[in-house]
Amino acid sequence: MPSSFRSPTSNREVLAHVDPAELIALTRDLIRLPSVVRPGDPDATEAAVAEYVERWLTKEGLSVEVQPVAPGRPNVLGWIGQPGAGSTLLLEGHTDVVTEGDPAAWTHPPFAAELRDGRIWGRGAADMKGGLAAAMIAAAAIKRSGARLGGALVVGALVDEEGDMIGVRHLCDTSIGRALTAAVICEPEQNELCLEQRGVVWARVTVRGRMAHGAMPEAGANPIAALGTVLSQAPQLERRLRRLCRPSPYLRPPTVTPTTVRSPLAGVAQSNVIPAAAEATLDIRLTSGPDESAISAEIDRFCREAAARTAGVTVDWRPINGYRLATRVDRKEPLVKAIAAAVKEVTARPPRFGGVPGSTDGTILRATLGIPIVNSSKRHGFTPWRR
Ligand SMILES: [Zn+2]
Repeated sequence: MPSSFRSPTSNREVLAHVDPAELIALTRDLIRLPSVVRPGDPDATEAAVAEYVERWLTKEGLSVEVQPVAPGRPNVLGWIGQPGAGSTLLLEGHTDVVTEGDPAAWTHPPFAAELRDGRIWGRGAADMKGGLAAAMIAAAAIKRSGARLGGALVVGALVDEEGDMIGVRHLCDTSIGRALTAAVICEPEQNELCLEQRGVVWARVTVRGRMAHGAMPEAGANPIAALGTVLSQAPQLERRLRRLCRPSPYLRPPTVTPTTVRSPLAGVAQSNVIPAAAEATLDIRLTSGPDESAISAEIDRFCREAAARTAGVTVDWRPINGYRLATRVDRKEPLVKAIAAAVKEVTARPPRFGGVPGSTDGTILRATLGIPIVNSSKRHGFTPWRR
């Protein structure tokens, strides 16, 4: 283990301060505070969970900072040691959860956090109030053990991971964020040590044509038909992006998936009117390799070729929420070696390495701060991509 992450206190002494029952109780408490973000409802935010985390970390004797990110949506940071004075490791969790959908469809109520047969049931149990609780307990155990760290440990409970990731973007712009030198993203769930994660670009493709009466289609240029061509060519874009990207033993290959379609873009939809414009979103997932300009050049070319297939239309695109490129860290990275050694010490087995199929707050930390990140994540069933 590199000296910067080594503490004079042994891991066993710290682990003696971890109480599994306390971890379970904390996870259940966090689930019982619903934090589905519902735009337009000022009461449906991460506020209650953030307040709980702030109180809990303060009680444990950590230094705590609350960073207002948006109304009712604060990041909570707690730390041991002095961030920036030596290596500064972030244990990252997010406080928001995705929607529970129809509560009646749940076998256990989504926010009751029932404990049955050794499992906790509820929205966010895995993603990721369980992971957040684990990060909090880990920091508290270190604090309680009296271990002197070679650097600083930060626990981050961030907002909006399931949305536009405004919480982590905000963190990167603060002094604590700039002090970070490595991060563990505590996403669910089967204890793999994930070295890579796919990137994502949401390409909003807009086709503009010319309105006309449906009875006289020759008078217009139909953007819906042209959009059909765009969508039918998506597999070709996918093939080209696969040639650009680096194969990974841990990740699915790049994919291009249409996820939304809309037309008309203005006015009312009428069955007898050819609309002026139509748009679709392509959810583009990438492995590491190409930079923003290489990806953008490929999508530009795709739009140009699509436009050439239908007379009278233009096709352009823009990224929704920017580019989130794939991330990858080397096995020789000190962070990876330290965690691999710790996994072996605790489980008596070497870690299983893996990759994250989607993007996480770690994507932003890696891209913005350039720091190494690893994810704990679940292996989703797929055939690894090799060339
Ligand atoms: Zn998550």
